[in-house]
Amino acid sequence: MPAKPIIFTIDDEVQVRDAVERDLARHYRKDYRIMKASSGAEALDTLHRLRQRNDTIALFLVDQRMPEMSGTEFLAEALKEYPEARKVLLTAYADTEAAISAINTVGLDHYLIKPWTPAEENLYPVLDDLISDWEATATLPYDGIRVAGTLWSASSHNIKDFLARSQIPYQFLDIERDADAKSLVEQANESTHQLPVVFFPDGSVLIEPSLTEVAEKAGLQTQADEPFYDLIVVGAGPAGLAAAVYGASEGVHTLLIDKETPGGQAGTSSRIENYLGFPKGISGADLARRATAQASRLGAEILSAQEVVSVGERDSYRVVTLANGSELVCHAVIIATGVSVRELDVPGAKAVTGAGVYYGAAITEAASYKDEHVFVVGGANSAGQGAIFLSQYADQVTMLVRSSLAKSMSQYLIEQIEGRDNIDVRLGKEIVGVHGRDRLEAITIRDRDTGETQQESAAATFVFIGASPHTEMLGDLVALSSAGFILTGPDLLINGERPAGWKLKRYPFLMETSVPGIFAAGDVRHDVIRRVASAVGQGSGVVSFVHEYLKTV
Ligand SMILES: Cc1cc2nc3c(=O)[nH]c(=O)nc-3n(C[C@H](O)[C@H](O)[C@H](O)COP(=O)(O)OP(=O)(O)OC[C@H]3O[C@@H](n4cnc5c(N)ncnc54)[C@H](O)[C@@H]3O)c2cc1C
Repeated sequence: MPAKPIIFTIDDEVQVRDAVERDLARHYRKDYRIMKASSGAEALDTLHRLRQRNDTIALFLVDQRMPEMSGTEFLAEALKEYPEARKVLLTAYADTEAAISAINTVGLDHYLIKPWTPAEENLYPVLDDLISDWEATATLPYDGIRVAGTLWSASSHNIKDFLARSQIPYQFLDIERDADAKSLVEQANESTHQLPVVFFPDGSVLIEPSLTEVAEKAGLQTQADEPFYDLIVVGAGPAGLAAAVYGASEGVHTLLIDKETPGGQAGTSSRIENYLGFPKGISGADLARRATAQASRLGAEILSAQEVVSVGERDSYRVVTLANGSELVCHAVIIATGVSVRELDVPGAKAVTGAGVYYGAAITEAASYKDEHVFVVGGANSAGQGAIFLSQYADQVTMLVRSSLAKSMSQYLIEQIEGRDNIDVRLGKEIVGVHGRDRLEAITIRDRDTGETQQESAAATFVFIGASPHTEMLGDLVALSSAGFILTGPDLLINGERPAGWKLKRYPFLMETSVPGIFAAGDVRHDVIRRVASAVGQGSGVVSFVHEYLKTV
């Protein structure tokens, strides 16, 4: 519920101040908070804090004659913070002239001559009138979390994205367009270099916070309730969420941990069209929200904004360590940490990522390059699909392929590409440089046979060069493929035999890694189909192997 607006009275004489406060409280307490201060300076200090909390002030009732700062001087300053508040001066006869001139200088609404008693006759009618006028015109402020930053800043985007994906409402304040927001940030931080600044309804402020700090303040669960679980699932994408739903519903005491918020890559997709049972498609955020609610209802505990930095063994237990240093112990672990798209590692690329260099087909961006010449980097199926999609908008699409298409692209896609007049494929070429300060202007292309380089203008470059699995937390604990994906079950066998170091009589279960009791599911596994349905299938299925394992510990 939004906080009540404030009526603020300032007077240096304690008896007068208390009497005003008493009279105000008697009449207005039900709908307003009454606040008081003994000097202009003290009141201004309070105003800064009230502004940070986005509190509203309906009316100032201020004594004109105060040492150091007069009532009029105070109102002139207060106006900068609360221009809409109504302003009333308490004056003695001798100050009437000052009050009249304040009507012009600070837009004074009224002055009351002391003493004002009886309040029913001299105070309330005047204030009632001003307050009802204020109520009719005031815009009530947003009373939730406010994120102040700039539109193009990656750190502001991360916090907004995290709040949105966690279904926490917030208001974004763009300090480049909103002078009030800029001054709010300056008051909190004395500079606008550290962004974003996040303002919470209780008045607290976080400057350039981590996701964990925001999650904690916003009331998300970031600490495990217990030190021991049957099963810990690392990663809350579709695979991890499915594992948590099946684990919890089948009576396994389950903890699910994500370094961001549940949803994974799927959570960032605007519309998943091919997930069974949703004929019109479903947004990734909606799917994530439903799955998170389901896992929670069935009894899984879910931690957000906690990164797992290592997974290890301790006797027959498995130990998961979080970035904050805390250790959680369990019988079994499922690694469902997914992948990230691989980024171009060439000079200049970072500076214009999102401003001409895009990873994936960036469907929302494609239409911006209507009638332009765009490049596609990569030669596998995703690059082929991207080129065909982009050719519907761009004038010309040039594919830069390091070797040949046939090596990694399906024949049907090769035929479609050959059938498009506005796609040309350059084989044996790679991108070695990206140019442009605020946005992409050109790229440098190298011929891999001759080593010759050449710079060409480019409106946009769409990059499809594969994905890197998130397996850093495993160190060399489990066996990985040469590309870093987790090997499980049959992948581990050597000539049909159990892998070296495997001490059990049984063979590894289908989705078990080279360490018994540590399982993997979803995109992070070697040689799987990287799709939502596949991840959900693996996450659901792996729990039956966890059951088998739990019978043995
Ligand atoms: C933009 C986009 C659109 C897509 N559209 C579709 C589509 O339409 N249809 C389709 O079938 N597939 C689609 N995909 C692919 C699909 O989203 C993935 O195959 C699927 O999400 C894989 O699920 P996952 O659970 O294995 O991993 P992910 O979804 O990658 O989830 C892994 C989770 O693990 C967390 N994590 C990683 N490391 C750690 C750590 N150290 N500690 C804690 N947590 C960690 C991550 O934060 C993440 O939440 C799309 C992918 C993207 C990027």
